[in-house]
Amino acid sequence: MKYNENTRATLLEKIKAAMSEKRFNHVLGVEAAALSLAERYGESKEKASIAALTHDYAKERSDSEFKQVIRDYDYDLDLLNWNNAIWHGLVGAQFVEKELGITDESILQAIRLHTTGASQMSLLDKIIYVADYIEAGRDIPGVEKARAIAKKDLDEAVAYETKHTLAHLIDINAPIYPKTIETYNRWVAKKN
Ligand code: GDP
Ligand code: FE
Ligand code: FE
Ligand code: FE
Repeated sequence: MKYNENTRATLLEKIKAAMSEKRFNHVLGVEAAALSLAERYGESKEKASIAALTHDYAKERSDSEFKQVIRDYDYDLDLLNWNNAIWHGLVGAQFVEKELGITDESILQAIRLHTTGASQMSLLDKIIYVADYIEAGRDIPGVEKARAIAKKDLDEAVAYETKHTLAHLIDINAPIYPKTIETYNRWVAKKN
């Protein structure tokens, strides 16, 4: 697919129609942050833009739609025991592929991994994971520190975000998805 002003405008229209204004503004913030990281660390700006714009595309879908996709597309059925927080990326990529026609596997993977991270992450995966956390509209405690780290060392930014997200989830007694722990072990504890 050729990515030009026309295709971008069409994509933006579909994304805007799929979410609240607040979330759409978040998505635009993630795109700006991802483009800046792509420039700094040498990733394709086109891929960074498309992955950022689509990363939360499915977030406002109903639980029943996600459950249907999990069953119909042979996902691990353990996913049925989780919720939108985990589904909207991991399973949401399916909606992006089907409805927006995005087939680039590296983009789809960055969407899949944007919430939990993973032990193995490509440059694009890291950029989307970090951009989602540091975009200008975010007001998370410690976000200024995360922004400063992201300008110096992307792997360290992945570690910082992972540690703080996990600490927050533990603080509120949330269940931890195993992939989030894998991310912690690799990027924070630096376990081989
Ligand atoms: P957003 O979609 O832009 O709001 O951000 P994310 O996709 O990164 O995260 C969505 C939500 O999932 C946030 O509230 C995270 O704290 C939460 N989250 C991330 N990892 C886990 C996990 O392992 N378990 C649970 N229960 N929630 C998680
Ligand atoms: Fe998300
Ligand atoms: Fe995130
Ligand atoms: Fe997001």
